[in-house]
Amino acid sequence: MRRLAFLLLAALAACDAPAPELDPPSPGSAAPLLAPSPSPRGVAPTVIPGFQRIQPVGIGPVGPVCGDPRLIGASIPAISGGDPRCGIAEPVSLVSVSGVALSGKTEVNCETARAFADWMARGARPAALKYTGSPLVAVRPVASYVCRSRNRQAGAPLSEHAKGNAIDIAEFVLADGRRFDVSTGWNGGGRGQAFVREAWRSACGPFGTVLGPASDRFHRDHFHFDIARHRNGNYCR
Ligand SMILES: [Zn+2]
Repeated sequence: MRRLAFLLLAALAACDAPAPELDPPSPGSAAPLLAPSPSPRGVAPTVIPGFQRIQPVGIGPVGPVCGDPRLIGASIPAISGGDPRCGIAEPVSLVSVSGVALSGKTEVNCETARAFADWMARGARPAALKYTGSPLVAVRPVASYVCRSRNRQAGAPLSEHAKGNAIDIAEFVLADGRRFDVSTGWNGGGRGQAFVREAWRSACGPFGTVLGPASDRFHRDHFHFDIARHRNGNYCR
């Protein structure tokens, strides 16, 4: 435990600048993990030890969205950004995907939401069971829609985040209470490492772009998934 705390502190100390793929701080994002709140329709909330509750980030009732029963959330008004290239015409705000709770704001388009559900059902959930023996109950998204350039670099092309095509994941929570974050789990050894790496690997396919700690310095602490398709096949690093 002490070693884990040390590693976390070391990882934090190593960050000389805020992680570029992360959203700017917003209300609620400072909390370590947030669980979806009860649905207005009376669906029992997912209770996860250590999670704090937040109100639904969507407007209107929480229920299946995008015509897909795996996607629970709310349809929200069209998003437009300061940059006219940014925005989502028909965004959804998700609270759970394929039975796995999301602990923070997740605003994407339906195509991205479906890719997310595919990965959760066929990749992340089976990987958790296979390597840890415990079901995956929650993940912590750290960025979804945000109007910005790629990796926040001046002059870089527009990020897929700016079109609702992308989602960043930083942590996984298992039913037995264990948590694996990307930054320490990636090289943490053992079954946790095997799980985290399989979760990353299995996103390649459902998503056209998959980036993790092995890709570049911008992705040391989270996975970036987006639905952009590339001429030479999927880009997964
Ligand atoms: Zn990203």
